[in-house]
Amino acid sequence: MIRRKRRKSLTAYLLVAVLAICLLITGCGNSPEGDAAPLTAGRNAVEPIPAEELALRYEKAGDAENTDISVPEPVSLEEPLTGPETEPAAIPEPEAAAEAEPEQEPVSGPDTGTVSESETEPETALTPTEETVPAPEPEEAPQPAAVQGGGRLIVIDPGHSANIPSGSEPLGPGATEMKAKDAVGTRGTATGVMEYELVLNVSLLLQNELTARGYTVLMTRTSNSDSVSCMERAQTANNAGASVFIRIHADGVDSPSPHGASVLCISSANPYTPSTYAACRRLSEALISSYCAATGCYNRGVVETDAMSGNNWSRVPTALIELGFMTNPEEDVLMSSADYQAKMVKGIADGIDIYMGTAGQ
Ligand SMILES: [Zn+2]
Repeated sequence: MIRRKRRKSLTAYLLVAVLAICLLITGCGNSPEGDAAPLTAGRNAVEPIPAEELALRYEKAGDAENTDISVPEPVSLEEPLTGPETEPAAIPEPEAAAEAEPEQEPVSGPDTGTVSESETEPETALTPTEETVPAPEPEEAPQPAAVQGGGRLIVIDPGHSANIPSGSEPLGPGATEMKAKDAVGTRGTATGVMEYELVLNVSLLLQNELTARGYTVLMTRTSNSDSVSCMERAQTANNAGASVFIRIHADGVDSPSPHGASVLCISSANPYTPSTYAACRRLSEALISSYCAATGCYNRGVVETDAMSGNNWSRVPTALIELGFMTNPEEDVLMSSADYQAKMVKGIADGIDIYMGTAGQ
């Protein structure tokens, strides 16, 4: 019997225990998700989820800025990202470099801009410096020496002489008018230098210059003791087949005032060598322009005349340049200086170069 009671009590206990376990289990049944419980708790805490509720609140309250702010925020974050992309754009860097260059240019500018003019200097200094860079090119430009000399023959005729041939000769081929074979020429009123001395010195310097530029040079005379008539001078050029016949003289009048250079050229009505007029005119203009440019001498222009027997007898392009007035004291002294003579020679040689270039020979 005791055993039955014990069994009953045990079963009772078991039943109670089972019931207790069941109660515990059912108690947990309210939250079968287990670990999710804290999540629901969190949701309940975040229930004021901004997404819908805040949007509704903003719409109701009309806080457009807030809604806009939330939207553009991500955009604004992207914009700064694109922003730096444009910032690194090296474009501003080259600009800075370009600004630095002009700063360096004016540095070299002062070298040329010795003038105290301030504002215009930098502007002019820019171009000169830019030009000074290619400057060496124009200096090398004369290298078209192939166009310059090329071995072509230039006959230089230093006017007059200390030994003047006597007699006369026709003014030109077939001319009945006669003219003295030559004259003594003029004389420096300040220096006392004779025209034939001055022009021979300049002609010899010109010979060297033209030779250096690639020309072949022939002189009608190389000494003040040579006796040569104007017709003979021209025949020297004709017989040699010269490309150009350059005659060197200096002016002289009774007044000390006249000054400046001029070139004597045959006229278009020249009865002796009319076919050479166009070439003579081009040569004359090239000479007077280059000469005055190189020397700064007053330009008296090209004078057309058919009274020069030496020009009339020339069958090749010819021009007679009057370097200046030896009867003008200042010009007389100037023409005797070595520096000015170098300029005169350069001017004449440049004129010949120009003529040769335009002549396309
Ligand atoms: Zn003369």
